[in-house]
Amino acid sequence: MTTEQTAAPINAWQVAQSQFDLAAEMLNLDPGLRRVLREPRRELTVHFPVAMDDGSTQVFTGYRVQHNLGRGPAKGGIRYHQDVTIDEVKALAMWMTWKCAVVGIPYGGGKGGVIVDPKKLSLKELERLSRRFFTEIEVLVGPERDIPAPDVNTTPQIMSWFMDTYSMHQGYTVPGVVTGKPISLGGSEGRNEATARGCVFTIVQAAAHLGMDLKKSTVAVQGFGNAGSIAARLMVDEGSTVIAVSDTGGGIWKQDGLDVGKVLAWKKEHGTVVGFPGSQTITNGQLLELDCDILIPAAYENQITAANVDNVKAKIVAEAANGPTTPEADEVLWKKGVFMIPDILANAGGVTVSYFEWVQDLNRDHWTEEDVNAKLKVIMDKAFGEVLAQSLKHGVNMRTGAYLNAVQRVADATAMRGLYP
Ligand code: GLU
Repeated sequence: MTTEQTAAPINAWQVAQSQFDLAAEMLNLDPGLRRVLREPRRELTVHFPVAMDDGSTQVFTGYRVQHNLGRGPAKGGIRYHQDVTIDEVKALAMWMTWKCAVVGIPYGGGKGGVIVDPKKLSLKELERLSRRFFTEIEVLVGPERDIPAPDVNTTPQIMSWFMDTYSMHQGYTVPGVVTGKPISLGGSEGRNEATARGCVFTIVQAAAHLGMDLKKSTVAVQGFGNAGSIAARLMVDEGSTVIAVSDTGGGIWKQDGLDVGKVLAWKKEHGTVVGFPGSQTITNGQLLELDCDILIPAAYENQITAANVDNVKAKIVAEAANGPTTPEADEVLWKKGVFMIPDILANAGGVTVSYFEWVQDLNRDHWTEEDVNAKLKVIMDKAFGEVLAQSLKHGVNMRTGAYLNAVQRVADATAMRGLYP
């Protein structure tokens, strides 16, 4: 989160519900269905002990929320962050439902989170925390029920511990219980890059639609984790100039372009992108307001808000993060003619390749990276086309276009299944 923000924090769950309400209203959704889809199906809160290296016992709090199971098992990542709240996890779970429906993969939506700053834990403490948290949420998860994955601050190593913990309890190896695993444990080729790759596929489509030349375009990326750092590299591969990137430590700006590979090496050595030779230090907030063609928020929720949206100068905003733009800011961007590629479309590449990973695990199969990337492109391009068509048909922004498709698909599935009992 940007350090500049002083106003009362924006509640992500209220944002998610108001985005849903807008689509439900436009779709003239049956009031009963509306009540069902507006709330999560299940919310689990766990408080669990972890033995710390200093001999003390600490109790941590975590959550797993399943928003909807209508189209298949719950799917969604687990994040480790000191600011995690139940409302944030509920919002992220609801967004997963729509995301899976937008790209047409057979999942519902779920999400998990633990209130912890993982940078303050030793590797052994992180392992004990991960294994115990997964044990606590085992009442919900399973390859046919709910399949976690990486999110903010969670890695393939953590997915391996999750998978091992679950497998030890079952007495046999269950690779399909979690995605985002290392290749050696049934992970998929291309999964690590998938969120960023999918995002760049949507940017390529948007640029073609707008008649923009990516080779002459400048890019600013907020967040230099898995999604942001790889998106920056892939935009360079497209011929664009990446003029700014940032992480929790702050941002760096160089108008004639950053060498993304070297920035990555710098961050590895110094723990932050800040201080990169030849760059100017900026804040996370300033990055969003830079004069650039493409802005990729790839960090946290509520970054583009009513407070700073007037200063956003990009022509395309591609949300690699979940929930970076508030509804008020969305409205302003739309009026300004900014082309918004919403999170539930822009970052759906991650969960799409998670789906490929799960299919490969269930089939004891392994696809080539070429195959994975080609299949990902087909799905992303199709979803982009469907969302653009909705947006043009109804004269609404791409977020509402995406919601119209997603909510309709989930509503249809829910209505066809009918009410039990
Ligand atoms: N955490 C990612 C997301 O927000 C990936 C989820 C998944 O692969 O299940 O989409």
